[in-house]
Amino acid sequence: MYDVAIIGAGPAGSTLARLIGEKYKTVIIDKRCFRNIPEGYGSGKCCGGLLAPDAQAMLAKLGLALPREVHSEPQLFVVRVIDIQRNLERYYQRYYINMDRWQFDRWLLSLAPASVDIIEKTRLKTFEKNSDHFDLSLKSNAGTRKIKAKLVIGADGGFSRVRKLAFNTKPFPKKYISIQHWVEMEDDQPFFSSIFDSDVTDYYSWTIPKRNALIIGTAVTPGADAYDKFNLLKSRLKQHGYRFGETLHTEGAYILRPVRQKQICTGKDSIALIGEAAGFISPSSAEGFSYAFKSASLLAKALRPGLKGFEKRYRTYAGPLKTNIAMKNIKSRILYNPFLRGMIMRTGINSMNINFRTDPATSLAFNNY
Ligand SMILES: Cc1cc2nc3c(=O)[nH]c(=O)nc-3n(C[C@H](O)[C@H](O)[C@H](O)COP(=O)(O)OP(=O)(O)OC[C@H]3O[C@@H](n4cnc5c(N)ncnc54)[C@H](O)[C@@H]3O)c2cc1C
Repeated sequence: MYDVAIIGAGPAGSTLARLIGEKYKTVIIDKRCFRNIPEGYGSGKCCGGLLAPDAQAMLAKLGLALPREVHSEPQLFVVRVIDIQRNLERYYQRYYINMDRWQFDRWLLSLAPASVDIIEKTRLKTFEKNSDHFDLSLKSNAGTRKIKAKLVIGADGGFSRVRKLAFNTKPFPKKYISIQHWVEMEDDQPFFSSIFDSDVTDYYSWTIPKRNALIIGTAVTPGADAYDKFNLLKSRLKQHGYRFGETLHTEGAYILRPVRQKQICTGKDSIALIGEAAGFISPSSAEGFSYAFKSASLLAKALRPGLKGFEKRYRTYAGPLKTNIAMKNIKSRILYNPFLRGMIMRTGINSMNINFRTDPATSLAFNNY
């Protein structure tokens, strides 16, 4: 019997496995396979793959530095903010690390101690409580198998099966469907664009250059017209001067937006949730890595004295993280209010002038220099 069964080997699950794997008999289960690198575009998990400053700080706090294969390119230190309806555009300085998400997840999982059992290509179907343990039912191509564990940890992301099975009656964060196209890049775009267009979404859309492709993405309210909204975004970007070619890869995923604190659920009765499964993700930017690291670290801290009473300790430790999300919701109210956003953008406060286009004449002069 395992002490801890972690469902999901994303940033939250892998971090927890690394932090508790030597103290507790731990198994980590994921429906993905991390052994083979996927061919072509995309990374097996629909994501922008940007490591924001908060997440960089958390990695440093955890004593980790990104290996070379996790880095992608170009590196980004500029955000281009566009308000389509008001025809406003500004550039702001912000340091992201542009990553290969697949390599990031592989690397984080590789840091789990050798004592941790890793079960890949296997999904959690159900689990039920039996006196002092849970019986988990797992499904893979090879069939169904059962394992036993004293604790179940849902680190299974925005579409968490653990949360659905155990806490379905609790309020759920607002749900969006994100759609991403990897398209041929026809322009040099060394910046992350953040696009506000109320005809597309009440959240935001983005473009991210990734090696020789450009990711175009949005998070829209789930519904039959989700794809139409995405296509509208693409045509608006073209009208705005973005140049891109054929679609190389399409991907989608649910993304959560915790607009109220009670939508965050840390769990109870020997079941805990971490990362996006708990609702830990920024409601203003959809930045999720720092929250995955933080919530996993807090749960590891709560488990340090022993299994007894860990739920209460985790809930207490997670209090400031919930408050942080409440603060981000205040920021959201300003950022997503068209009048206030327009006012801030018009002042130009903290923005910078940037000329990112390569002028062949200048390049030549530079080469000769
Ligand atoms: C389109 C998009 C772009 C994003 N871009 C960024 C970004 O640039 N920067 C950023 O900080 N955040 C970004 N996010 C948010 C970020 O991806 C998540 O918040 C973060 O990955 C959460 O980590 P996690 O470990 O909680 O969950 P996840 O990374 O979602 O990991 C969950 C894991 O659980 C597994 N799993 C799920 N269900 C089961 C099951 N039943 N059985 C077994 N395994 C299961 C999955 O395969 C997955 O590996 C983005 C999200 C989306 C959707």
